[in-house]
Amino acid sequence: MRHDFGSLALSSTLLTVVAELGYEKLTPIQAQAIPVLLQGKDLIGQSKTGSGKTAAFALPILEQLDLEKRSLKALVLCPSRELCAQVAREIRRLACRHPGLQVLTVAGGEPFRRQASALERGVHVVVATPGRMLDHLRRRTIRVHTVTTVVLDEADRMLDMGFHDDIEKILTALPKRRQTAFFSATFPRTIEVMSRTFQHGAVRVTIDDGEEAAPDIRQLLLMTEPETRVRDLRWLLANHAHESALIFCNFKATVKELTHTLSSAGVSADCLHGDLEQFERDRVMARFRNESIRILIATDVAARGIDVVDLDLVINYELHSQPEVYIHRIGRTGRAGKQGLAISFASIREQPKIDAIEKLTGSRLERLVRDASADVDTEALPNPLERDARMATIQISGGRRDKVRPGDILGALTGEAGGLNAADIGKIEIHERLSYVAVSKTVSQAAVESLNEGRIKGKRFRASII
Ligand code: AMP
Repeated sequence: MRHDFGSLALSSTLLTVVAELGYEKLTPIQAQAIPVLLQGKDLIGQSKTGSGKTAAFALPILEQLDLEKRSLKALVLCPSRELCAQVAREIRRLACRHPGLQVLTVAGGEPFRRQASALERGVHVVVATPGRMLDHLRRRTIRVHTVTTVVLDEADRMLDMGFHDDIEKILTALPKRRQTAFFSATFPRTIEVMSRTFQHGAVRVTIDDGEEAAPDIRQLLLMTEPETRVRDLRWLLANHAHESALIFCNFKATVKELTHTLSSAGVSADCLHGDLEQFERDRVMARFRNESIRILIATDVAARGIDVVDLDLVINYELHSQPEVYIHRIGRTGRAGKQGLAISFASIREQPKIDAIEKLTGSRLERLVRDASADVDTEALPNPLERDARMATIQISGGRRDKVRPGDILGALTGEAGGLNAADIGKIEIHERLSYVAVSKTVSQAAVESLNEGRIKGKRFRASII
């Protein structure tokens, strides 16, 4: 099988975009699924998060899109609000050369009316959770007669979460002539049954273990005791030059305490846990993604929605009692063909947990010895993790709803208007009602002032450093 994008029947626009995003080779699921979907066939694809499955279904959708008409062509169902946001973000990235393409997330927990009015104005792609999608169907705030493609993402998880009936109702409401794709990590019987009911001659694509590149993750173990844990973590942060790290703790209380300890010591750390409001979580995630926070500390539940591509280091501050959780946690590094690093802390008393992990992974964790000779010359390290983040985040009170685009913000900050160098501007994220832009800390004050004095799209917005 050929593994380059050029072998696919994709438009030159899409080939340019994937090249710009730095995607060099097709992932196995992409190599198998994209040709099938481009032929308009139904598909059941085996896939995991991090396998590149979003692009596997998004590229064929974009290829078949007609931007002239503002009608709904594709519906993607996902199990959670966070996954919807993640999928929509990847679709928008891939669609950056499709001006005018409208992608809307339709998830619970967001104002219904606002979604309804966006749907009323017309969108091309909807990424929805089943419950909220069904609400819109029932209240006739969404029209689906033009839909030609429906994708069930993480189908097994949606079924586990009890969305079976909702999904059936949604699929029944769609036009009969359409393409249906299921993506799932596992294939329980319910999925087989659904496939027989809602698909026609579906092509099944499974990635065998040999083909799916085993994630390349270096796994280290550092023996420590509860009373030396913080000290050892600080040592690790002083001796590692990774850009960022995700630290897992078992409990919310530990997350809060550790965040406090590190922040008070001047380390660039923030946290995600169940007590945060959605807007606070969004904000923390945006700051972590755009490199204004270097260390993110989280519980497993809160980390579920984290959609950061290149996590170069995962630290298990505490081992979980279930070895599967270990695998899940470290699976957040070493994605899309890059090498990852996972460092776990454990005390002597936790040997049974270590045994269980080694049994499950089939390999021995590499012991990391902490002694003076292992210390690197910190001065020589380019940018150890304990050092402050280079970027700061500015929140702007306008977003997609105000038709703000990344180029508008860039324009307001650079050139005659803003006077900043493009090199000082990092990631720009446009959300529904606000935007985040990362700028170098050294110029952040000047940037806020010029944003508050100037206009974006002819309008005044409030800007502040968060
Ligand atoms: P997904 O499994 O869709 O969540 O994708 C995992 C990550 O891999 C996403 O952030 C993509 O941007 C990235 N990605 C997708 N396809 C490729 C590719 N062919 N090469 C490199 N990175 C990719």
